[in-house]
Amino acid sequence: MSFCGQCATPMSPAMINGKERPRCPACGFVLWRNPAPVGMALIEHDGELVLIRRREAPLAGFWAPPAGYVECGESVPDAVMREAEEECGLRIELQGLLGVHSRADVDVLIIAYAAHSIGGALCAGDDASDARLFAPDMLPRQPPPHDGTVTDLWFHGVVSTTLRDWRPTHA
Ligand SMILES: [Zn+2]
Repeated sequence: MSFCGQCATPMSPAMINGKERPRCPACGFVLWRNPAPVGMALIEHDGELVLIRRREAPLAGFWAPPAGYVECGESVPDAVMREAEEECGLRIELQGLLGVHSRADVDVLIIAYAAHSIGGALCAGDDASDARLFAPDMLPRQPPPHDGTVTDLWFHGVVSTTLRDWRPTHA
């Protein structure tokens, strides 16, 4: 059971704008749920791609580009640059948007950018057990997790297609 964020009364389901949503019977507060934005960076460093080995779900133990939640008080590009430095130790410059990935039954959406390093030193930071460079023809081939959640499998698909399409572009 969830409780009203305004007055702490137990919420109950109500039909609002054609969909069942939690509503507070006392004060009328409606809980609108929105996917949380996650920024991701495909970072080129000396012609190679920076990947981290994820420590946490989703896809714990898999190689993926640095990524993390956008927080209030920062733009999406700000969040991508902050996460890159926290997770792999590199300061980066963004080159452009690569794509936006979302799915109806997953409560995050991913905004992926092409980027290149402009400073710092590669090391595994927050949420990463390892950080390495991969040549374009040596990117890790990772089968989907056989016991993964919907979010694991979706994230695996996003990472796989994003890596497949990545090319070094920064001269
Ligand atoms: Zn209430």
